[in-house]
Amino acid sequence: MMRQHTLLILLVLLCFASCQQKNAPIKIQGQAQGTYYSIIYYDEQQRNLKPQIDSLLQDFDLTASLWEENSIIRRINDGQDSVVNPMFVDLLQHSIEINKYTQGAFNCKIGALVNLYGFGFKNREDVPAERIDSLVRIIANDKCEVTKAETIVLHNKSQGVEFDFNAIAQGYSVDLLAAMFDQLGIENYLIDVGGEVIAKGCKPTGEDWTVGIERPAENKYSEQEVEVAMRLRDCSVVTSGNYRKYYEKDGVRYSHTINPTTGRPVEHTLLSVSVVSKESWYADAMATSFMVMGLEKSLDFIEQHPDNEDIQAVFFIYDDHGEYKTYATPQFQQLIKD
Ligand code: AMP
Ligand code: MG
Repeated sequence: MMRQHTLLILLVLLCFASCQQKNAPIKIQGQAQGTYYSIIYYDEQQRNLKPQIDSLLQDFDLTASLWEENSIIRRINDGQDSVVNPMFVDLLQHSIEINKYTQGAFNCKIGALVNLYGFGFKNREDVPAERIDSLVRIIANDKCEVTKAETIVLHNKSQGVEFDFNAIAQGYSVDLLAAMFDQLGIENYLIDVGGEVIAKGCKPTGEDWTVGIERPAENKYSEQEVEVAMRLRDCSVVTSGNYRKYYEKDGVRYSHTINPTTGRPVEHTLLSVSVVSKESWYADAMATSFMVMGLEKSLDFIEQHPDNEDIQAVFFIYDDHGEYKTYATPQFQQLIKD
C-alpha cells in the first residue's frame, strides 16, 4: 500500500514536471522600427519563432518605414515611384478612416510638416510660417487615390504631400504578429513592439496578462517608471506620449504630434494617452488622435461616441500646474490592478 502511494506521488510529480516543460514560456526579443520588441508565448511544441517574427517585421519595414531607404513609403514620398502594395493600401485606408472619424485630428499625409519640425529623419530646420500654412492647405485638399489592376498604383498625390504612417504602423505591425501567432495555433501570448501591446489568452495559471503604463518622464533620458499596472486579455493597449519624443528650442518644448489643422506641434497639458481596443492599429491611431485633441476635446469625443466598441477604455495622464494627474474612463478603472 505504502509503495503504491509513493508511486502515485511520483507519477503525479513526473506529470507535473512534463506539464511545466510544455508550459514553459518562450521569450523572444529583438529590434524593429527603430525600437525593441519583446514577445512571450506558450507553445506546446516549443517552437522558436524568432526567424519568422524578424522576417515579418523586416517585410513590414520595407513597406512602411521612413527609416528604410528603399521602402515603398520613401519611394512614394520622394516621387520615385507610384506603385504600392496591399499593405500600403491597408495603412492608407485605415488612416483615411480615422482622419474622417476624428475630423482631421489624425492625418497620415503630414510627413513634410513632421520633417520641417525635425521629428523625422531629416535635419531640423527653422520653420517659415508661410511654408507651414501652404502645406496645411495642400494636405487638406489632397485627393490621392489608388487603382488596382495588375499592379496597385497611387494617383493624384499633390506635390508637398508626404506620407507618415508612424502613428499607426507600430500598432499595425503588432496586429500582423498577432495574426501570425493565431495562424500557428498559439493561443496565449503577449506581444510588445516599443510599448504597443496586444495580449491574447492568459497565463497558464489562468490569470490575465499584466501590462504597465509608463509614468511620464521628466525628459527623454529619465528612467522608466510604471504609473499603473493593468490586466489585459484578448485586446491591445497603446500609449502615445509627448515626453520622450520632443525637442526643445529657446526653452519651448515641441512635441512630435502635429495638429494637421494648424500645421503646428500640439501644445497642451496632456502628457500621455493609453487606448484599449480589440486591434492594435486602432488603439495606436486613436491614442495619437487624442494627443492632438487634448484632454477636454478627447473627453467630449468619447462622450459623443458611446457606441464605439473599439474604444474599450482610455487612460489620460496630464500636467496640472506642474503636478501629474490621471483620468481613467470607468472601463479603464476596471482594468487597473490593485
Ligand atoms: P504616436 O507615437 O503613435 O503618437 O505617433 C507619433 C508620430 O506620428 C509622429 O512622430 C509623427 O511621425 C506622426 N504624427 C504626428 N502627428 C500626427 C497626426 N496628427 N496624425 C498622424 N500622424 C502624426
Ligand atoms: Mg499612434
